Amino acid sequence: MSVDLSIEYARKLDREDPLKDYRKQFVISDPSLIYLDGNSLGRLPLKTVEYAGMAIRDQWGDRLIRSWNEGWYHQSSRLGRKIAQIIGAHPEEVIVSDSTSINLYKLGYGALKMMKGRSEIVSDDMNFPSDLYILQGLVRQFNGKHTLRLLKSQDGISSDMTELVRMLGKRTALVTLSHVAFKSAYMYDMEKVTELAHMHGALMFWDLSHSVGAVPVSLKRADADLAVGCTYKYLNGGPGASAFLYVKRDLQEKLENPIQGWFGDKNPFEFKLHYRDPGTIRKFQTGSPPVLSVSGMEPAIDMLLEVGIGAVRQKSVAQGEYLISLAREWLFKHGFRLGSPMFAERRGSHISLKHAEAYRICRALNDPQVGNHVVIPDFREPNNIRLGITPLYTTYTEIYRSIKQLRYIMENRIYEHYPTSRDMVT
Ligand SMILES: *Cc1c(COP(=O)(O)O)cnc(C)c1O
Repeated sequence: MSVDLSIEYARKLDREDPLKDYRKQFVISDPSLIYLDGNSLGRLPLKTVEYAGMAIRDQWGDRLIRSWNEGWYHQSSRLGRKIAQIIGAHPEEVIVSDSTSINLYKLGYGALKMMKGRSEIVSDDMNFPSDLYILQGLVRQFNGKHTLRLLKSQDGISSDMTELVRMLGKRTALVTLSHVAFKSAYMYDMEKVTELAHMHGALMFWDLSHSVGAVPVSLKRADADLAVGCTYKYLNGGPGASAFLYVKRDLQEKLENPIQGWFGDKNPFEFKLHYRDPGTIRKFQTGSPPVLSVSGMEPAIDMLLEVGIGAVRQKSVAQGEYLISLAREWLFKHGFRLGSPMFAERRGSHISLKHAEAYRICRALNDPQVGNHVVIPDFREPNNIRLGITPLYTTYTEIYRSIKQLRYIMENRIYEHYPTSRDMVT
């Protein structure tokens, strides 16, 4: 069935959208700017301006050091409990701390230490490079006794479960994967993969950076052991906002944190000379949290809890399908092809379109001189244009206009006016 190609239809979808009012809760200073990059840096919620302002002016400015007892000290656990609701974990299993990369290191170290006697780490070649770099560093730190084995994607879009099964065995210590792949948005079946890892006695470690706030996750139902995730993408926590980590309750005592700092001690303010393991999720904190940045995370988390991840997912799937059908009508004849799984149930919340000229096409999309709108997607090497769908603020009309603008750029070969040399951050 072909899609209705009129803008009236896009407008009708927007009018009938049950989440349409949430867009008003974000700072949108230029309504003509089409932002399809919430999967890299989520938009700023209006309330965050207020919360961060309060944290600076009232808590830091007026209350000074007293603020530690008035909320700062427990902020990381309190927000961890809220994030736990979004990822289907027990409230005492999640804490906000450090960056995703550092959390990956801490839990990865703990996992390898715990699984002494097993020598293989399994991941895939669609994983986020930082995750793989951290794992390579861990292999070196454990004196090269481990092997990092990567499941190879045949098409660069999805993974083959039978291949994964073949890689697991008695030597597998740890299986660590991004639940949703950052380029293609391929989404693993969390329950199935976790079960497979457990069947072979390995620990299962998920990176939820592209899932949290975008797709329903239940770490509890999957019985996952470890997880980390990012808060500046679909959780709209702001640039470089602290990440979170999850450790299943019955592992919290046993798992070692390689960076045991004072915030992970039983009671930091007793200032004992020897570290005492609290045996709870708190031990995976390290030092003082970046309070101002953590303060900005709460409004969007509250919004997501109010909307419910089910409603977010429903709209994300509908918008993804709409985008793909427009692309099929208008773009595929210009050399584009789908760089994401065709079926929504195996796909996260962004759509990748592949084109040999992807980089220059992105430059044209970004250029205010071209067409009626600036469209911000992002480019991922070598040939992906990622179009991020963030149901709290992405409209159907924006999707319509973006794909139409892409068609305009292709029909008039506008991308040919741009150089192929890359900016530092793409
Ligand atoms: C965004 C992202 C990260 C980010 O790591 P930082 O340490 O916050 O820079 C890590 N892993 C994955 C899978 C990501 O998508």
